[in-house]
Formats: sequence, C-alpha cells, structure tokens
Amino acid sequence: MKIIPMVDLKIQYKNHKKEIDASIQNVLESGRFILGKEVESLEKEVARYLGVKHAVGVSSGTDALFMALMALEIGTGDEVITTPFTFFATAESISLTGAKPVFVDIDPKTYNINVEKIEKAITPHTKAIIPVHLYGQPSDMAKIMDLKNKYNIKIIEDVAQAFSSEYKGKKTGTFGDMSALSFFPSKNLGCYGDGGMIVTDDASLAQKLRMIRIHGDESRYVHVRLGINGRLDSLQAAILRVKLPYLDKNTNLRIEKANLYSKLLLNCEFTLPYKEDFNKHGYNQYTIRLKNRDSLKFYLETQGIETAVHYPIPLHLQKVYKNLGYNKGDFPETEKAALEVLSLPIYPELPEEDINFVCNKICDFIKA
Ligand SMILES: *Cc1c(COP(=O)(O)O)cnc(C)c1O
Repeated sequence: MKIIPMVDLKIQYKNHKKEIDASIQNVLESGRFILGKEVESLEKEVARYLGVKHAVGVSSGTDALFMALMALEIGTGDEVITTPFTFFATAESISLTGAKPVFVDIDPKTYNINVEKIEKAITPHTKAIIPVHLYGQPSDMAKIMDLKNKYNIKIIEDVAQAFSSEYKGKKTGTFGDMSALSFFPSKNLGCYGDGGMIVTDDASLAQKLRMIRIHGDESRYVHVRLGINGRLDSLQAAILRVKLPYLDKNTNLRIEKANLYSKLLLNCEFTLPYKEDFNKHGYNQYTIRLKNRDSLKFYLETQGIETAVHYPIPLHLQKVYKNLGYNKGDFPETEKAALEVLSLPIYPELPEEDINFVCNKICDFIKA
C-alpha cells in the first residue's frame, strides 16, 4: 500500500543535495563546530530576512523561549500569559524559569489566543505574554501590542510554526520584544537535528542572550550570571544557510497545497482552516476540524494516509500541571478543539495527486 506521510524530509535534501553536502563538508574541514562563522552568518541572514537588528542562534525552539524568559529575568512569583492550545514547550519554558503559566482560552476560528480575554488574566504579577502563531496563522498582534503598552508587559512571540508568515504585511517574529524560532526538521525552515533562534531589536537583550547561551560567560570561564548550554551547532547553521533562501518559495508552495485542499474539500461538511484576510498563513500545518475526528483519522490510517492531532490534550489538563489548579471546563474552546482538529499531510513538495487521493478518501468517508 502506498503511504502518504505527514511530511517527507528526504525530498528537500535530494533537491539541494549538492549545496547541502558541500556546506556540511566545509564545516567538517574547518574543524570549527561550536558557533563561529556559520552561526554568525546565519544570524545576520535571518536578521536581514526579518528586518530585525539582532539574531542569536540557539539549541532549539524550546531553549529559545526559555532563554528569552531568562533574559527578561522572569522567575518565581511571576506570571506569563499564553494559550493552552499549543505544543507543550511554550508553557514548559515558563515553568522552567519558576514562573507560572497563566492560560487564556483560544478563538475557535483561528485556534490562537483569544485577545479579547487576555486583559482579564492580567495581574500585578504578569510579566509577559507569549502569543503562539499556531499552524502558521499569525495571532492578533495589534491587540496584543495594545496590551503591552497599556500594562507595560513584555511580548515573546512563539514563531516556531510561523517563520515566514505575515500579520498585516509585517512578518511574524518582528512584533515582540523577542521572538523564538524553531528549526526542528518539520518546521517551515528546518535543519537536520535541533536548532532555534531568538530575534530582537534590543541590543542589550541580544548581548544578554549571547551570554546565556554559553553558561553566562562574559569571557572564557568568567561567569557573570547563570545560563545554559544553548548554542546552535555550526553544522546545523551551515545547513540552514543553504535552505533559508528557499524559505519564501517553500512557504508559497505550502500555501498552494493548502488552497488546493480547501478547494477540493469545500463541499465537505466540516470546518476548513480559517484565514484572516490580512494574514499570510504559512501553513506549517493544514488542520481541519470535525466532530467524528477519531473515526476519520482511523479510516485514513487504513488507507495509508498519515494524519496528526495538534494537540490532543490541552496544556491546562496535562498531568504535570495539576498543581496549577485548572479544571476541565476552564477553557471550553480549547477543550473542544482538542477533540476535533486533524492535521493532514502538508509539505512544499507534496504531490498534487497525493492531495487528490487524500481528499477523495476523506469525501468517501464523509459520504459513507
Ligand atoms: C516546535 C515548537 C516549539 C519547540 O521547538 P523545538 O525546536 O522543538 O524545541 C515550541 N512551540 C511551538 C508552538 C512549536 O510548534
């Protein structure tokens, strides 16, 4: 049976094999594996791509969030507002600093934090908001920036799923005091292992982040604060430098695939991804929504079609967060979405015939 995977990471490698191999070879022969020229060049290139002043290459998207919070000196006694409908790392990074994640329910159309509900969650302990641009759809940044100014709190964008998305013509990752990128292999710009980056316009934050990623080093073996081993590998940077120039093209291909899905699924009785007119949705995921999600997922599996649920357990109901005191029913839109969303295969090179195949199978299931 033919298998249609959620993502096929081999095709992109094959398409750019010569350039990528040469770039890896270069690093191997240089003998420079930690930071150095490749990381510095990638930082400049990402900063230029986004139009921001500083970029700091780090070990993962998770560490990017964690280090951004550390740079703001957020910790015990502080609160950070975010969405309960995201990958665990968003909240985990808050908890790791000692601060408390405070969740706010989502807007059921966009699956992003409901900006109308944030204000009620703000307390004198609130230090930051982490909006997540879920699946590639930008959060409502205008409203979030209003809250930032009104309450003097910091914004850290979680751009893990939205590198190359745009909100009202401005790239996601350029709004926050800092923004966290992930180069996990399946993200819109992925490396061949773990990697991430923090971008900011603030020179003093950038300088702090450069110390935090290397154990709070001011200079070798002189530690002026606590940090972590949070560096981006030179090898990953070299691979990313080859792939960055294709990011926009690849995101546009994702958009084409998403539009084809939406065209073919238009008459099905379920909810297609909603896109705000003013947003460029980067479609890191193409996520539909339906009541009998689990049976469709099971049926597609029997037909060789991989799907995924992003995410099945809302963060306020995770076992590890029992101590936060949340209950079932606290965030009804998140809880409903967790039962109903289903992400279909999507990647820039996904063949049109595969999309046709997937849509036919979905229609068969819906009609049956
Ligand atoms: C992938 C992801 C992360 C974490 O990135 P890693 O590089 O895997 O550590 C954080 N937040 C969101 C929303 C993600 O999708």
